[in-house]
Amino acid sequence: MPRAIPRLFSRAPLCCELRMTRRQTRDNSKGNMNRCFYSCGECRRMVFDDWEGIRDGNPLCGCGEISRGQVELGCSYVFRCARGKCDYRVEDEEDEEDEEDEEDEEDD
Ligand SMILES: [Zn+2]
Ligand SMILES: [Zn+2]
Repeated sequence: MPRAIPRLFSRAPLCCELRMTRRQTRDNSKGNMNRCFYSCGECRRMVFDDWEGIRDGNPLCGCGEISRGQVELGCSYVFRCARGKCDYRVEDEEDEEDEEDEEDEEDD
């Protein structure tokens, strides 16, 4: 049964003055299986089209939009511009480093 994933974008965002292309990830190495995202054919910029990591408590990014929190390689938890409009990037250093490399997702 297909699950409907709420989309972040109501229409394809612009990048390099072109509409970005909607795709789906196939690679599950980072737990990103079948996530929809937009990519730019010009600069290869990409932004996920879902609400993963976007929560009410997230800081606002440089352009005034909500940010997306995600676990990045070699780092802890990093907040970035949810819609990829700006280069906002902040590491969340409130929590101590986890020994396990597990994402524990809370359902709320
Ligand atoms: Zn671009
Ligand atoms: Zn932004």
